[in-house]
Amino acid sequence: MAEELNPFKIAQEQLDRAAKMMNLDPQVHQFLREPMRILEVSIPVKMDNGTTKIFKGFRVQYNDARGPTKGGIRYHPQETLDTVKALAAWMTWKTAVVDLPYGGAKGGIICDPKNMSKGELERLSRGYIRAIGRFIGPERDVPAPDVYTTPEIMAWMMDEYSKIVGYNAPGVITGKPLEVGGSLGRGDATAKGGMYVLREAAKKINLDLSKATVAIQGFGNAGQYAHKLVREMFGSKVVAVSDSKGGIYDSNGLDYNKVLEHKEKTGSVVNYPGAKNITNAELLELNVDVLIPAALENQITEKNAERIKAKIVLELANGPTTPEADVIMFKKGILDLPDFLANAGGVTVSYFEWVQNINGYYWTAEEVYEKLDKKMTKAFWDVMEMQKKYNVCPRTAAYMVSIKRVADAVKARGWV
Ligand code: NAD
Repeated sequence: MAEELNPFKIAQEQLDRAAKMMNLDPQVHQFLREPMRILEVSIPVKMDNGTTKIFKGFRVQYNDARGPTKGGIRYHPQETLDTVKALAAWMTWKTAVVDLPYGGAKGGIICDPKNMSKGELERLSRGYIRAIGRFIGPERDVPAPDVYTTPEIMAWMMDEYSKIVGYNAPGVITGKPLEVGGSLGRGDATAKGGMYVLREAAKKINLDLSKATVAIQGFGNAGQYAHKLVREMFGSKVVAVSDSKGGIYDSNGLDYNKVLEHKEKTGSVVNYPGAKNITNAELLELNVDVLIPAALENQITEKNAERIKAKIVLELANGPTTPEADVIMFKKGILDLPDFLANAGGVTVSYFEWVQNINGYYWTAEEVYEKLDKKMTKAFWDVMEMQKKYNVCPRTAAYMVSIKRVADAVKARGWV
C-alpha cells in the first residue's frame, strides 16, 4: 500500500513555500508552523446496551492572533490528531483570506456515527462539550458542523454549553437550526459564495457567463446548489453533472429540477433521460468554459491536468487539485480558483450567524447575501492583486494574502 501522506506535513510545506516566496520573518514563520493549543479528551458515554464506551476527542486551536478561532467538528472512525491539526491550519488561512476577524481551529471525535443511535450521538456530543467547555466560547473558539455532524448536533452542543455557563450562549457554535439562532442563507452559502467569486473571475478574463457552459463534479450540497445558482444568477448552461456512480452530459443543458427529481427517484444522476452517460474522468476533461469540482479531493492531477479545457476552475470541493496539477494549469492559463477562497462562503455565513447571535438582531436572507457578496468579491480581488505582484498561481497568492494578514496580527500584538 502506498504510504499515506501526512496532512499536517502537507500543510506545513504549503506554508513553507509561501513563506519563502514572500520573505516571511523567520520567527513568525516558525510560530505559524505549529498550532498554538491542542486539547485531547476522553469522553465516557453510556451506550444503549448498558455498557460505557470511552471515546477520544480533539480540539486544535491553530492561531488566534486575528480573533477567536473558528472551525468545524468532525465525527470519523479514522480521525487522527494530525488531520485535525492540518485542518485547523487550513481554517486559519481560510478565515484570513476572506478577512474574517477569526483565527483557525478544528475538532474531531474518533467514532463511527453511522453505527450509533441518536441517543448515543446526543450523549457523545454533550460529553464532548463538557470535556472542551472551558476551552471554547463565543469570544474564544467557535465550532461548527463538518463531516458527519449536523445542525441538530450543533443545537445539542449549544444547549450543553449554555447549561455549563448558566445563560443562553448561541454564539458559541454556528451552523445551528434557525429555531435556536441559525442564520438565513446558510444552506446554499458555500455555492453562493463560489458564484460571487466566479462572477468576478469571469469579469477578469472577459467571459460572458450568460453564454458559458459549465460542468459540475458532485451532486451533493455544494454541487446541487452550484447547478441551481449558476443558471439562476447568470443564465449559464450546465451541460454535465455527476455523482459517485457516474456523470451525464447534454450539450443543450441539463434542467436542475428534473435532474434533482431523477436523482431523488433513482439514487443517481446516471441514466437521466435524453442525456449521455459519461464517467467522472470524462466530465473533468469536457470542452466547457467553467469546471466546478464539488465532490472529492485529488481529482485534477498531473495525469489529467494537461487535458483540462475549462477557462475557469472553481474549487468548491476541498483539495480537488494536486500541487503538480496547479503548476500545469497555471502554465496553460487556466484560472484555477483555490478551494479555501472559492468555498469560503460557508464559513463567512457562519461568521454572520455569530455576529447576529452576539447582537441578538437577525438579518433577512437578502442582507446575508449582500454582505456575503461584498466579502467574497473583495477576497477575490485581494488574491488577484497578490498574484499580479508576484506572478504566482492563485493558490499561492491566496496563501500569501492569508499568511500576511496573520503575520501582521502576530506582529501587531507584539508576539514576535
Ligand atoms: P455531499 O456529501 O453533500 O456531496 C458529495 C457529492 O459528491 C455527492 O453527490 C456524491 O455522490 C459525490 N461523489 C462522491 N464520490 C464521488 C466520485 N468518486 N466522483 C464524483 N462524485 C462523487 O458533500 P458537499 O457538502 O457537497 O461537499 C462536497 C465538497 O465540497 C467536499 O470536498 C467538501 O469538503 C466541500 N465543501 C462543502 C461545503 C458545504 O458547505 N457543503 C463547504 C466547504 C467545502
